[in-house]
Amino acid sequence: MTRLYNFCAGPAALPTDVLTQAKNELLNWQEKGLSIMEMSHRSPEFVSVAQKAEQDLRDLMAIPDNYKVLFMQGGASSQFSMIPMNLLRGKTTADYINTGQWSKKAIAEAKRYCDVNVAATTEGNNFTSAPSQGELKLNPEAAYVHYTPNETIGGVQFDYIPETNGVPLVADYSSAILSEEIDVSKFGMIYAGAQKNIGPAGLCIVIIREDLLGQTLEATPTMFDYKVAADNDSMYNTPPSYGWYLAGLVFAWLKAQGGVKAIAEINRRKAQKLYAFIDANPFYANPVAINNRSIMNVPFTLASADYDKAFLAAADKAGLLNLAGHRSVGGMRASIYNAVGEDAVDALIAFMDEFANDQ
Ligand SMILES: *Cc1c(COP(=O)(O)O)cnc(C)c1O
Repeated sequence: MTRLYNFCAGPAALPTDVLTQAKNELLNWQEKGLSIMEMSHRSPEFVSVAQKAEQDLRDLMAIPDNYKVLFMQGGASSQFSMIPMNLLRGKTTADYINTGQWSKKAIAEAKRYCDVNVAATTEGNNFTSAPSQGELKLNPEAAYVHYTPNETIGGVQFDYIPETNGVPLVADYSSAILSEEIDVSKFGMIYAGAQKNIGPAGLCIVIIREDLLGQTLEATPTMFDYKVAADNDSMYNTPPSYGWYLAGLVFAWLKAQGGVKAIAEINRRKAQKLYAFIDANPFYANPVAINNRSIMNVPFTLASADYDKAFLAAADKAGLLNLAGHRSVGGMRASIYNAVGEDAVDALIAFMDEFANDQ
């Protein structure tokens, strides 16, 4: 059967080449007579896979040497609690920028550990923009500043990296990591659940500056301590080895595409096309401020919500899957991550055009 176009927000599409390779290697990895997922994580074979994945990610993102790369478990949501546990470092307050559902979850969790100063919120406009640098009311006493560069649900993306005057900047990059080039040195920590742009769900990548390690809250579980993870090469316990392997295949695939710079160009072209179509067709609308439109997650509404059911049914029939918006906001959403090709976006636009004409 052919693979259909998958616009799911997460777990999201993976490159077909990657899945084909995984399939070919599933039963017998590199003629070793067993699957990579059946091997000890301490075996030289798996360690080489793990190290190559990390090195490829370092190459792709130009991660400086004074940053650790951790392969953690529990998704991005577990980071919402690990961050205050690890990064308060004796302080009692942290800054959070509130731009949508994921920021809110991070804030709610942080409040269990510290005073949260909401440095800015766009809840007033229903999370349809990101605050400007001038709107951020940052507290110089904050242990860190947390924000969500790309809000997956609202389709809102920052068009700048906040300046925090030396306070470590922490970014939930779950739905935008590897989608365009970023300067890692501007961040204290970057984290990303894998299931958007990296690999299967469960795995979470943490990129953290070394000087921030080792000052955890006293009752921090060992498994939640970044320094323990760093000191043990993310193998304090059994890591999610198959997810790590698949992430490595995705990193190698991305390198073969020409790296982040090349994929970013394609991503911008995909997003630009889709937004241009939505703006030009009165049947469709996107509510997000132009400069904050996400290049990964494109929410849109139809002329009336009465069309939603028919739209989704027709899209499914046309082989365009998972276009329903998040249950909290309704409407539609096309997630166009790295593995969603330009052909998928072209097919979506053609379908949307035809659907609008038929009404
Ligand atoms: C998907 C997502 C999460 C949650 O990831 P889980 O792995 O399900 O915990 C957190 N933040 C953002 C921005 C996301 O897109």
